[in-house]
Amino acid sequence: MARYTSMEFLKYLVFEVHPIEILFNYDRYKHLDNEQAWMIIESAKLLADQEMFPYFKEMDQTPATYDGKGGVRTHPQIKRIIQLAAEQNWIGGAAKFEHGGMQLPEMIFNSAHHIFQSANNSTQGYLGLSTGSADLITSFGNAEQIATYVPPIYEGRWQGTMALTEPQAGSSLSDIVTSAAETNQGYYKIKGQKIFISGGQHDGVDNFVHLTLARIEGAPVGVKGISLFIIPKYTPEVDGSMRYNDVYCAGDFQKMGQRVYATTHLSFGDNDDCRGFLVGEPNKGLTYMFQMMNGARISVGQCAASVAMAAYQASLQYCMERPQGRTAGEKDPSKPPTLIINHADVQRMLQTQKAIAEGSLSLAMECNKLYDLVHASEGEEKDTHLLLLEILTPIVKTYPSEQGSRAASLAIQTLGGYGFTTDFPVQQLYRDLKIMSLYEGTTGIQSLDLLGRKVTINNGKALQLLLAAINETIDKAKLNVELKASADRLSKELNDMKKVLLHLNQYAIKGEIERYLSDATVFMEMASYLVIAWQWLKMANVAKEKIEAEDFKTNSKSFYEGKIHTMHFYFKYELPHAAACAETLINTSTLTNLQNLEMFF
Ligand SMILES: Cc1cc2nc3c(=O)[nH]c(=O)nc-3n(C[C@H](O)[C@H](O)[C@H](O)COP(=O)(O)OP(=O)(O)OC[C@H]3O[C@@H](n4cnc5c(N)ncnc54)[C@H](O)[C@@H]3O)c2cc1C
Repeated sequence: MARYTSMEFLKYLVFEVHPIEILFNYDRYKHLDNEQAWMIIESAKLLADQEMFPYFKEMDQTPATYDGKGGVRTHPQIKRIIQLAAEQNWIGGAAKFEHGGMQLPEMIFNSAHHIFQSANNSTQGYLGLSTGSADLITSFGNAEQIATYVPPIYEGRWQGTMALTEPQAGSSLSDIVTSAAETNQGYYKIKGQKIFISGGQHDGVDNFVHLTLARIEGAPVGVKGISLFIIPKYTPEVDGSMRYNDVYCAGDFQKMGQRVYATTHLSFGDNDDCRGFLVGEPNKGLTYMFQMMNGARISVGQCAASVAMAAYQASLQYCMERPQGRTAGEKDPSKPPTLIINHADVQRMLQTQKAIAEGSLSLAMECNKLYDLVHASEGEEKDTHLLLLEILTPIVKTYPSEQGSRAASLAIQTLGGYGFTTDFPVQQLYRDLKIMSLYEGTTGIQSLDLLGRKVTINNGKALQLLLAAINETIDKAKLNVELKASADRLSKELNDMKKVLLHLNQYAIKGEIERYLSDATVFMEMASYLVIAWQWLKMANVAKEKIEAEDFKTNSKSFYEGKIHTMHFYFKYELPHAAACAETLINTSTLTNLQNLEMFF
């Protein structure tokens, strides 16, 4: 079977770079140890090998389609995967014991989901959505809502979805108009249209639980007037029957990627009979939803990293088998052609992919660990982990999505013409990956969040924590002769970022917020290059320790040498882009506020 991820690399991340064992000191995770953790993760590989990866291409060729009668037909394997994943606790495994879960840390749960994402990313989407929806209900729903809706989701019988987007309200959720009219019977009457709803009314499950944002009549305008509702397709009645809840699926969008993943248009209350059940308090819906969205943003970033990893593995395999031409120094045409992996330019493309995919995955694991620490700790410690996670969340969503697309494009390039054909998976991975920079908040929106909110949050405390964490890694690397130059380089880049922020702050202080934020995406790019450099330096620190201690129990010497090599590659070929971003950010001219739109023509 073709390789779609590296279990060696996953092990390195979970046990050596971001050692999971510190989690086992906390009450929440004390029932686990390293051995169990790996056994659980490995069991996911079996499911992915047998049930997901073999269907990856076939599912692309038989996309989800609207049946014309309010439903969406999916590939039959989707139903089977949801059932098997539920049986093996891959929907509810991270939930607390009291909610029927195994109280797994995200480091384990999301390692398994990384395997699913790299094997067959669309199918993982169905599972992840259910996990996130149930998590939202257990966090903010009442006991009856938890008892009614969570078990069937964890059992894979019902699908959870998140229904936010409307035709006129995508990035700007303050503009949603779906309405909720209070009744005196314990529910609200819902009316409205939601579009692009992933995992919507398909034939792989019996029922749907749409976690929906709507506006209670008379609520304040903007985000302060948004409430969260549970809106099932079929409502369970006291007599055990199921009542159709007037949630009609009006269509399924056909897409360039993730084609087997249903993307639906839902219409609520066409017959004035759609009941929504308020979650938590009125007008707090967006705050609640952000819990799901923050988890989903880490998951989307991790998914992008995983798809880039699958593309890297596919192109690596091809390069090890494809003979073509001779190396630049070999002039004798009678000599047999060399494998393309021996061409410097091919190695450059492979190493770029490796640097992006593995760097991204390491950042995702850093965030998974912070997420676990937030959930396991209390008080000041919890606040610290949360702030660091908050500033990293837009970055972990964005860098893998944007640079992962570039990596997958390089995977196609590495294969030459074959990469463009459907004979090889790299084009599908490239198409699948594109959505990651769009849903869960586009790159533009994530960048506004980073510069506009996260950098300034708590008087810059989150940024200080991030800088301290990076400096800790730098200080360690400085003690090693081979890593010192890279450590110094990253130090310099951090100082340049501080200069950029000082420069931008001038606009913020003057109240020129639009100017302050106008190059937020360029700032995101710069910050991302630095954060991934931090991850590579961290990985190199660990690899160096292993080599010096001649400790090759987990991975080989070449594996560790490869990590140090890729760190050097990243610092030589990728990190210099940060300086170009800094130059643009410091430049005082404003070129992105054209008032005369005719100049675009
Ligand atoms: C396949 C797919 C699955 C999806 N799944 C779900 C789902 O399950 N649930 C759900 O609720 N939604 C879902 N979505 C919707 C998705 O989250 C939105 O498409 C996304 O948030 C962008 O909204 P939009 O498409 O309306 O684009 P717009 O908001 O119109 O954005 C268009 C462009 O304008 C930019 N832009 C917009 N506002 C600003 C601003 N203030 N400043 C700077 N730039 C700005 C954006 O960055 C983007 O480049 C899905 C979408 C797709 C395509």
